[in-house]
Amino acid sequence: MRILVQKFGGTSVADLTCMRQVQAKVEKALADGYKVVCVLSAMAGETNRLLTLAREWSSRPDPSEQDVLIATGEQVSVALFTMLLRDAGWKARSVLGFQMPMHTDNDYGKARIMNIDSDRLKQMLDEHEVLVAAGFQGCDECQRITTLGRGGSDTSAVALAAALEAERCEIYTDVEGVYTTDPNLCSRARKLDRVAYDEMLEMASMGAKVLQIRSVEFAKKYNVPVLVRSTFSDASGTLVTKEDPSMEEVKVSGIAYDKDQARVTLREVPDRPGVAAAIFGPLADAGILVDMIIQNVSREGRTDMTFTVSRSDLERALEILQSVAKEIEANDLIHDLGVCKVSVIGVGMRNHSGVAGTAFRALTAENINIMMISTSEIKISCVIEEKYLELAVRTLHDAFELDKQSAED
Ligand code: ASP
Ligand code: MG
Repeated sequence: MRILVQKFGGTSVADLTCMRQVQAKVEKALADGYKVVCVLSAMAGETNRLLTLAREWSSRPDPSEQDVLIATGEQVSVALFTMLLRDAGWKARSVLGFQMPMHTDNDYGKARIMNIDSDRLKQMLDEHEVLVAAGFQGCDECQRITTLGRGGSDTSAVALAAALEAERCEIYTDVEGVYTTDPNLCSRARKLDRVAYDEMLEMASMGAKVLQIRSVEFAKKYNVPVLVRSTFSDASGTLVTKEDPSMEEVKVSGIAYDKDQARVTLREVPDRPGVAAAIFGPLADAGILVDMIIQNVSREGRTDMTFTVSRSDLERALEILQSVAKEIEANDLIHDLGVCKVSVIGVGMRNHSGVAGTAFRALTAENINIMMISTSEIKISCVIEEKYLELAVRTLHDAFELDKQSAED
């Protein structure tokens, strides 16, 4: 049995006209001889509408009841779409999370998939041409409904593709694929034909919001090829796939950015063992992710410790750090919201030198001051003033000539 998983996002199922386009994509796959598992999101705006309702009804919505509520968005989409398919004569049925069943833990609102009963789904696929599966939802041990976090239908789709050993997972959306950078910031952004899982993870975590990060982690773990493409055109899309040697020939694949950054500095902390643990331990205990950390050279036994956190965590971080600062006798605690992070990403960096130099020179030429730098094997990130974000993205995009098709693709 050749199985294809096709996932359609909220803008693709927004109304009847859109759903007709979805129908055409599914019918094309059926004509190509596949059994199709079609995973749908809620209609555009619906999940937000339901979350607003929850907040109107309750000052602190019960997480489990909130999941019961927001999972209804996907239920509406799958029922309506299955009606269309059945009217067209296809053997189709809708499948909700608990019917698959998609077992998750009970972390309501951001549950993790534990396992999927593929036997039951395969049996259903024997009897049907199309299964229209509700994305985003699962059920826990106690048969309570759970949801997988915003954008979670991507993860539902990839997980189903892995469980059913589908040929690939196609993610249909309202853009043509993954771009070298955000086309809204840089008109010369170019659609990539292929991108490695690790590159996509870096891009997804920094604002290239095409795929939920967890779905990429899943795809990498189970080696599921993911094709991101548009519902509204026939363009070939971007294949997110495992790395191969030809990908390494390209030094840089994309420029990502993240505006959700705040910089925090503890001034003149004593430079002695245990200080970093005293600062970052309590932050970690509170579930606050710290990104870049810089410890300066010490003078007279004291040093400055600078790091970044996401803006939504800033207030809590400052609360914690106020007491830490007293305890370790730091002299000051300051923060800055006007910063952002730009990153140059590419698996090719592993065996090409000079990428950092090119990036720093390009920013210098535009007089953009780099406040912090961090690097990994496939990424160089710089914290800069937020007002230079667009300029920095365009400058780096030009510096690595990302508008030009590389020999490899
Ligand atoms: N409907 C959910 C959301 O808006 C899940 C999804 O669309 O992927 O986040
Ligand atoms: Mg999405």
